[in-house]
Amino acid sequence: MAKEIWVFAEQRDKELPGGVFEALGIARTLADSLSTKVTAVLLGDGIRELTGQLKGVDKVYLVEDKTLDSFNSERFSKVLAGLVQKENPLLFIFPGTANGKSLAPRVAAATGGGMVSDCNDIALTDGKLEFTHSILAGKGLAKANLDESVTGFVTIRPKAFERTEGNTGEVIEITPEASWLESKLKVKEFIAELSEKVSLEEADIIVAGGRGTGGNFGPLEELAEVLGGAVGASRAAVDAGWISYAHQVGQTGKTVSPKVYIACGISGALQHLAGMQSADVIIAINKNPDAPIFQMAHYGIVGDMFEIIPEIIAEVKKA
Ligand SMILES: Cc1cc2nc3c(=O)[nH]c(=O)nc-3n(C[C@H](O)[C@H](O)[C@H](O)COP(=O)(O)OP(=O)(O)OC[C@H]3O[C@@H](n4cnc5c(N)ncnc54)[C@H](O)[C@@H]3O)c2cc1C
Repeated sequence: MAKEIWVFAEQRDKELPGGVFEALGIARTLADSLSTKVTAVLLGDGIRELTGQLKGVDKVYLVEDKTLDSFNSERFSKVLAGLVQKENPLLFIFPGTANGKSLAPRVAAATGGGMVSDCNDIALTDGKLEFTHSILAGKGLAKANLDESVTGFVTIRPKAFERTEGNTGEVIEITPEASWLESKLKVKEFIAELSEKVSLEEADIIVAGGRGTGGNFGPLEELAEVLGGAVGASRAAVDAGWISYAHQVGQTGKTVSPKVYIACGISGALQHLAGMQSADVIIAINKNPDAPIFQMAHYGIVGDMFEIIPEIIAEVKKA
């Protein structure tokens, strides 16, 4: 049997983000083609009940310890590296979340594995895994193979892969070695930045604002509220201090793939497009008809967002 495919079953406050289920989806597809097993690796404290939510897996490695209660990149990567060194899986898939993007390269470096970030597709070509991933701030796609004698590590682009159903797996409790839990890093406090009910990476609808908001995100927040979506922002808005970095979309912010992305007062710089161009439908509202965002948008509205957004809110409320 080929070596196993592993998935990092990230949990935050005892909840599994959508990216975990997408990672399990592609892991299951690949494992079935390669006649191998899918193993989910779940770290935390008091999280056993989450194992029942992990579908399409053969095994769950459950590593529980009170020191794993909150995310610590050093400790988490040491635990994962310890497991990889013992079992040498073929591929370790991480959701493209902030924590997944932080851990995957650390564990790859610690174990001498290969690493591909931001995968849109993983296929089997001539018996070898082939990874398609974004390059040049999303301007292009590249294909890569990894040396399969060592573990390959990938992060996946949000919503690029279908979720899977299927069975829950056998739960195997792993007692972490004491050295894996040592950490010079002390997390003093977690400050939840996003106050929305819907997280940006998982939102189906994002209403994003840029410099054109002039710092007034009120109408965008209302539109997001009536649509059941989340609020995003360009870096210009974040740099101006109008909204926190947790909302930033783009090359140095979050990568999102919602069904609908409404860009309000955003010009459409390459670095912003890098984070949202895989949205199914892009709607741009901009008072400059020559703004580059209109070249990417499926629908464009030329005009003042402060006049247009209230009209959209009124129509949505009527509907
Ligand atoms: C290394 C690097 C990384 C970067 N990473 C990111 C990133 O992650 N995310 C990101 O967003 N940017 C990033 N940037 C910055 C990026 O290059 C742009 O500067 C930024 O995206 C511009 O933000 P903006 O579109 O909000 O502002 P602007 O480019 O100033 O555009 C504002 C738009 O608002 C319109 N407007 C003004 N008033 C109104 C109104 N009342 N109604 C409707 N439209 C109006 C204007 O016509 C204009 O098109 C990065 C840059 C670098 C160099």
